[in-house]
Amino acid sequence: MSTTATIAVSGDHANSPVELIEVQLPDPLGHEVLVKVNVTALCHSQLHNLASERHHRQVLGHEATGTVEKVGPEVTSVAVGETVLVTWVPKDAEQADRSAAAATVTLPDGSVAISPNVYTWGTHLVVDEMYVLQLPDDIDLDAAALLGCAVITGAGAVVNTAQVTEGESVVVIGVGGVGLCAVAAAARVGASPIIAVDLTDEKLDLARQFGATHTINASTTDDPVADVMAMTPGNGLNFPRRSVTGADFVFDCIGKPATVAQALAMTRAGRFGVRRGGMALVVGVPTSTLELPPGPLLTGERTLIGSLGGSCSPSVDVPKFVEWWKDGSLAISRLVTARYPLERINDAVADLKSGQIEGRALLDVPRA
Ligand SMILES: [Zn+2]
Repeated sequence: MSTTATIAVSGDHANSPVELIEVQLPDPLGHEVLVKVNVTALCHSQLHNLASERHHRQVLGHEATGTVEKVGPEVTSVAVGETVLVTWVPKDAEQADRSAAAATVTLPDGSVAISPNVYTWGTHLVVDEMYVLQLPDDIDLDAAALLGCAVITGAGAVVNTAQVTEGESVVVIGVGGVGLCAVAAAARVGASPIIAVDLTDEKLDLARQFGATHTINASTTDDPVADVMAMTPGNGLNFPRRSVTGADFVFDCIGKPATVAQALAMTRAGRFGVRRGGMALVVGVPTSTLELPPGPLLTGERTLIGSLGGSCSPSVDVPKFVEWWKDGSLAISRLVTARYPLERINDAVADLKSGQIEGRALLDVPRA
């Protein structure tokens, strides 16, 4: 028996508004799971999806909490009635070894709307079990939706991709939901200093609450790279034994060519044969071509690397970040700085686009 659901579907061309459409979702087959959504959230990557030209309409959203209502006959890892996290990252290697079809919703006119993995902007979804992870019931199950992207992407970049350790210096460019999680993870592992860079004092104040020790308002300073150099004095010696400045790790949670270039410029040089240079990480979603001077990569033995979903395996990493939440070192509930009902999805998208959402915005789904 099919399930009646209301799903957010992108228009058929770039920047057209999102439509809420009532559809009939078929019962899950094979490894598929039907989840009733509790709360979902908005991520900047959905703005990129909505702004891009497309061959088909899209179903959107990739972090949510909900309840499993039905399972396909081959599902083994979750059960009906369980409270779950929906995430776009395959939850472990065993699950990821299977290839899952793109999530496809048939619209009333017979056309389809597609997501490569999951879609959470709606009342229900049918997706592969590899994207559905059981959650403990003793946590804030609204804010827990952010474990599905913001937390694993930001905190995972620090602990998995970069493997930051105590005393190492960290810069985070862009302290929205993802960047705040990077700041908190850096604080959790004892990084110092932790320098947050953004365009408003409100966002930078929030970053201090998550553990930033220094802040740079890039809209008012002349040169954020010079500011980082001043905040990281004497960070080792370079090859000719001169004292170097610059950070051990710079996380670019924006992904624009200008911020990636800044991130690389903010890293410290290495010391030839003794210590490699600093690491710049692309964490935000890049949308245009990057041109960089390759000299500093070579002469300072710097690293430029991407971090997708924080290199996380949610089955392993989500329980760890829940422990951090419980011990107070990762204040996930405080990432939520705005809430909208699902029917105001286009207002939420507009506010995210115009920079009015400091942390992460939740979408409340009708509970009827
Ligand atoms: Zn995301």
